[in-house]
Formats: sequence, structure tokens, C-alpha cells
Amino acid sequence: MDFERYIRDIQDFPQPGVIFKDITPLLKDPQALVQACETLCGMVKDYAIDKVVGVDSRGFIFAPLIASKLNAGFVPVRKKGKLPYKTISESYSLEYGEDTLEIHTDAIQKGEKVLVHDDVLATGGTANAVCKLVEKLGGEVVQCNFLIQLTFLNGADKLNGYDIKALLTY
Ligand code: AMP
Repeated sequence: MDFERYIRDIQDFPQPGVIFKDITPLLKDPQALVQACETLCGMVKDYAIDKVVGVDSRGFIFAPLIASKLNAGFVPVRKKGKLPYKTISESYSLEYGEDTLEIHTDAIQKGEKVLVHDDVLATGGTANAVCKLVEKLGGEVVQCNFLIQLTFLNGADKLNGYDIKALLTY
């Protein structure tokens, strides 16, 4: 499937100089939604995944869909102050701005195999922070997958050593 035609470029959002990759045209199309999920799951078929970790907030759309197809659990990584139970945190820098991510301390057991999912890989700061959180809890990151990888921002360099997959690369 030509997924690229379901991604809309929004110039200067949320601030000047950023070309925002809007995935809502893909989400609202029933076939594209199912196919995108199938393709993402196909990329991880060699692993027995215990947990799929989705990143706040657009990572929450596909991560539970992927988890349910792989018979894995879903774990949310959220922006600071949003999770109700005990957390550990990790700070990181974005393509636009800076932030802190948190995960529940009981979200992942030692030795569990973890798939990290987000909508877009840009500079890699976010995904790198998520991988650190998973590893602090003793989880093993077996793959980071994304709908979109913006290769010109070299996010893969920050995720050196991890298996990175994306539906679309720009
Ligand atoms: P980064 O930490 O630089 O890899 O940024 C990745 C995070 O920021 C992801 O959670 C994305 O949702 C968001 N993001 C960064 N750049 C874009 C973009 N051009 N379009 C849409 N989302 C983006």
C-alpha cells in the first residue's frame, strides 16, 4: 500500500520551520489503518514481544493495536506528571522544545522483551529516553518502530545499536 499518500505535510506547525507529519488522513481510512498496523506487526514477527511501549501522545494510537495483534501488553510512557502511580523519569530534547517522560515502576518486569513505538522518529531524543526508561526497569528493547522516520534529522544515530523500523522514510 502507498502509505505516503495518507500523510499530510503541515508547514510551520507547531512552530515556524517545522514540517509536521499529520497522520490523521491515514487514521480515518479503514484500509490504511488496518494495513499500517499489519505492516508494523510484520516487521516484528521474529520476536516474542511481552510489552509494547507507546509514547505520549500519538504513539498511543498504534501501540495498543500492535500489542493486541502480538498478544503483548501495552505500556504508556507519558509526559511528566500524568501517570498516577510511582514513576521513574528521563529528560530529553525534542525537534521543538524539551520535556521529561515517565513510566510506571511496575510497567515492565526484568528480562521482558519490549517493542517501542511512536508515530515519528525525528532527532531520536524521545525514543532514546524511552529506551532508557525501559532498560532502567530491566526490559530488553528488541525494536523501535515508527510510522515515519525523518532520516535527515539523524535520529538513528541516537538509537545506535537498536533495531529501527519505519513504515515510511523521508
Ligand atoms: P524526536 O525526539 O526529535 O525524535 O521527536 C519525536 C517526537 O516528536 C515524536 O513523539 C513525534 O510525535 C514528534 N515529532 C517530531 N517531529 C515531528 C514532525 N515533523 N511531525 C510530527 N511529529 C513530530
